Amino acid sequence: MRAGIDLGGTKIQAIVADEEHHVLAATRQPTPTGGGAQGIVAALAAAVRDAADHAGVKTEELAGVGLGSPGDVDDHAGTIANASNLTGFAEPVAVAAQLRQDLGLEQVRIGNDVSVATQAEFELGAGRPYQSLLGVFWGTGVGGGVILDGREWHGRGGAGEIGHMVVKLNGKQCPCGRYGCMEAYAGRRAMEAEARERHEKGEKTDLFKIMHERGRDRLTAGIWHRAARHGDKLALQLIERAEEAIAAAAASAVNLLDVEAVILGGGMGTRFGEDARARLEKAMLPHLFNDDRPPALLLAELGDLGGALGAALLVDDKAAVT
Ligand SMILES: [Zn+2]
Repeated sequence: MRAGIDLGGTKIQAIVADEEHHVLAATRQPTPTGGGAQGIVAALAAAVRDAADHAGVKTEELAGVGLGSPGDVDDHAGTIANASNLTGFAEPVAVAAQLRQDLGLEQVRIGNDVSVATQAEFELGAGRPYQSLLGVFWGTGVGGGVILDGREWHGRGGAGEIGHMVVKLNGKQCPCGRYGCMEAYAGRRAMEAEARERHEKGEKTDLFKIMHERGRDRLTAGIWHRAARHGDKLALQLIERAEEAIAAAAASAVNLLDVEAVILGGGMGTRFGEDARARLEKAMLPHLFNDDRPPALLLAELGDLGGALGAALLVDDKAAVT
């Protein structure tokens, strides 16, 4: 058995899975914002203990723990740095060493969150029939993963940044600071900034009313979905624009790599589900050079647990204690 953790800016999801990758227990808790890096690492250890507890196993019986994290992940050094959504993670934090000590486990592996989610879809989810694919994770930002000839392509360590493919020259400024990136139109954070600006200028929308009703401080995927279902004009416009941008970037990537499948996941992708998949399929077509044989466009199958399952895959179970 192994544990997997998906560390996000808002939540920590932990699972315990058996050798066949069946999830025996899953737990979810908010990412602490008060205690700095130490608080987050302590919460990661607690999440593993909690999931192990629910699965009815002792933590020391686990073969190891895999962690999927945003930011610059160095599995060899066991550190995470530059994770702007996590407090205290600007400088490298020695997460693996601390988890090893806290949990009494030898094997703690760290991977990039989008990379492990792509790997999970490839090995266990919608990507199983294919040897090449592009994972597109539409959430707060838009992350990407590339599998070529059955192996993930990391480039020099920075591959897969589909959110920062340029879809418009001299376009909108992206949260990354550059201009015209796909994420500047499609990332949930960028969409929220645009909605706020237009609302303040007098455009009508229920987005922020729904946000207050739900006691939230940001426009979650659920809020966008609800507003769209009610025919909110601004929400529908920004969602359409987001999907156009994703379609242009994904189709451009397909023109370059000719992968067999594109898999759509992430908080927004999962929430809009089949509707978004069908609209993207149509929106990609005009941009595809080989439009007589478009790639399969599929929804991520593992949903919310994909990140944690992919993280658990990092653990080498042959090194398991017997
Ligand atoms: Zn960018």
